[in-house]
Amino acid sequence: MRHRYLLISSRLKIALILGALVLPTSALLRAQLPLGADVVLANVKARNEARKETARKLLAKDAITVVLVGTGSPLPSDRAQASTAVFVDGRFLLFDCGDGASRSIDALNLPIGQIEAVFLTHFHSDHFADLGEIIDRSWIQGRRQVLAVYGPSGVAEVLDGFQRAYRLERGYRTAHHGEKVMPSEFAGAAAKPFAPDESGESVTVYDQQGVVVKAFAVNHAPVHPAVGYRVEFGGKVVVISGDTTATASLATQSRDADLLVAEAMKMATVSQMQKANEQLGNDAIAHILHDIQSYHIDVEQLGALAEEAKVKRLALTHLVPPVPKAVAPLLFKRPVSEKYHGETVVGEDGTRLVIPLP
Ligand SMILES: [Zn+2]
Ligand SMILES: [Zn+2]
Repeated sequence: MRHRYLLISSRLKIALILGALVLPTSALLRAQLPLGADVVLANVKARNEARKETARKLLAKDAITVVLVGTGSPLPSDRAQASTAVFVDGRFLLFDCGDGASRSIDALNLPIGQIEAVFLTHFHSDHFADLGEIIDRSWIQGRRQVLAVYGPSGVAEVLDGFQRAYRLERGYRTAHHGEKVMPSEFAGAAAKPFAPDESGESVTVYDQQGVVVKAFAVNHAPVHPAVGYRVEFGGKVVVISGDTTATASLATQSRDADLLVAEAMKMATVSQMQKANEQLGNDAIAHILHDIQSYHIDVEQLGALAEEAKVKRLALTHLVPPVPKAVAPLLFKRPVSEKYHGETVVGEDGTRLVIPLP
């Protein structure tokens, strides 16, 4: 009797977990609990189809598609923190994965099980906080290769922390669901450290059948090392700035790029926020707001850099300060457009940028 109860309880748990994996909240609300089997089936089917269709589009080889997974910064907001997905030649490469990145990937139906590599720009937590969840969820949802995690020196230490924190969790999953469903050999990730060239020249860190990722040192002092990345395929170039000032290496590496995904800070507003906090006696916050202005790029400088480098399209991410969606274009786009005459996109979580291939 007790055995049967445990069996039912275990099945119920699996059903609930599967439900959580596949049912969007809106579907649950529409269904008005308790759910009938037909409602569950219809919702699972709809979600499956949405995921398949998204994967089909993103993994198609006729374009490079960049998805802004997270466009926030360390300052609290409703955006996920820094994370950018690049789909190129059927590959899913992820650049940074701050807090909220895995939830955003799920909400956007990105094919997390097919992720091949993560590239970290530096080791501020708003760029790697979700690494453990990315590794774990991609494995649970079908990843059948060890996930490669690239980064400058320090990446092995960061990854080792996540590997240790998730060791018990992964053991439970394999023990419960079996090696066939949760193969332990693919549960983890492997660090791929590299040494950036400090002069700002790029170094190739990934080269797979014509898809090349190069890293270049940027200036995010006192954070060191810190890099940006350049993805090259089929004569097209996507540059991801990481966190940096308007450094010469970013300008050089962005020359004629089809797309520059760049962090953006509205320095004048941050300075006003600093002064307001000083007046209110919030000394620690004022101090932080003062300090962060020295290692990010102001929107006007970014516009000038993009114009000088003849960047074809500019996408703004890592938006500081966080402002409501409706205000962001005014705050960020206008000062960029004064200097840069190409297309500027103020990023939202989920913004897609498509670069057709010849
Ligand atoms: Zn940073
Ligand atoms: Zn950051």
